[in-house]
Amino acid sequence: MTARRLGFTLTCPRDGAPLTEGQAALHCGHCAARYPVVNGVPVLIDDASSVFAVADYVDSEGYAGPSYGREADGASGPRRLYHRLARWLGDAPSSLRHPDATEVLAWIKAQEPPPPRVLVVGSGGLSLGREGERILQTDVAFGPGVHVIADAHDLPFEDAAFDLVVVVAVLEHVADPQRCVAEIHRVLAPRGHVYAVTPFLQPVHMGAHDFTRFTPIGHRRLFRHFDEVAAGVALGVGSVLAYTFSAALLSVSQARAWRLPARLLGLLAAPVLRQLDGVLRHGADAAGGCWFLGQRREGAPITDRELVQSYHAGFRQEQGRLPPLAEPGPPRAASSAPA
Ligand SMILES: [Zn+2]
Repeated sequence: MTARRLGFTLTCPRDGAPLTEGQAALHCGHCAARYPVVNGVPVLIDDASSVFAVADYVDSEGYAGPSYGREADGASGPRRLYHRLARWLGDAPSSLRHPDATEVLAWIKAQEPPPPRVLVVGSGGLSLGREGERILQTDVAFGPGVHVIADAHDLPFEDAAFDLVVVVAVLEHVADPQRCVAEIHRVLAPRGHVYAVTPFLQPVHMGAHDFTRFTPIGHRRLFRHFDEVAAGVALGVGSVLAYTFSAALLSVSQARAWRLPARLLGLLAAPVLRQLDGVLRHGADAAGGCWFLGQRREGAPITDRELVQSYHAGFRQEQGRLPPLAEPGPPRAASSAPA
């Protein structure tokens, strides 16, 4: 199993006990749960508590929600062309740059010589890093590069097993983000890092699997058991205008004949409006999202008073950069996980 080959121990999402390998399944010696392995991918979901049902992964494709861009594969003719165009325009970058997961990984590698053990929660078909690196990718949907199907509420990994957790565009989709961040804290080694990007002003996407939004200070509070290394705005007010313009166009009429031109118009306007992100740089309070790079904090969390002071002290002015590498933090305590 890939996770094992990468050197990670898989644990029972229900009770944290290590799993043993059986025929086409993993077994928990503690609670006797059986977790199926589908096409080499373990489905480590607690069926009793997750919104996802294990049977769906065995009987069918499992959860097919994060299928952004996949529509083109199933369509033909003009629809295929439309989905291709939608994907291309949808990927048009914002003019407001912020460090992405690849840059954060490079920064962590440069800072901490031993190769970091990385967990990607919700990899969404994207692969981070290169072959041979200790990067474990999880999602709730099967897809390229997904090693394990896991629900972020109950991460099936040992305590302190990772040095970096990447969680991008995920925490808005979970029922209980506090619990998911507590899980991230648990699986991180002392002084391990988390990199999160989460929307603020963005319409509902992925339907029922879209629970929460965070203001910049709300996002900081979500990570109150972490010290802030760097943070900033992920999408600016131009992106918010693009989302809102599209939503307004679609709200004009329910008629089928209107929806395609409305979608096209919204898509064509988006790359132009997104250029405003880098121009209107003081719109942090109306941003499309926030990013946060934090380091695991031991002991008491940051207090709400400190949190409020941090807002006035810096967040709104921060465009957010990774700190220079010339000033490395204190060395990571024990790169091997405690038993
Ligand atoms: Zn168990």
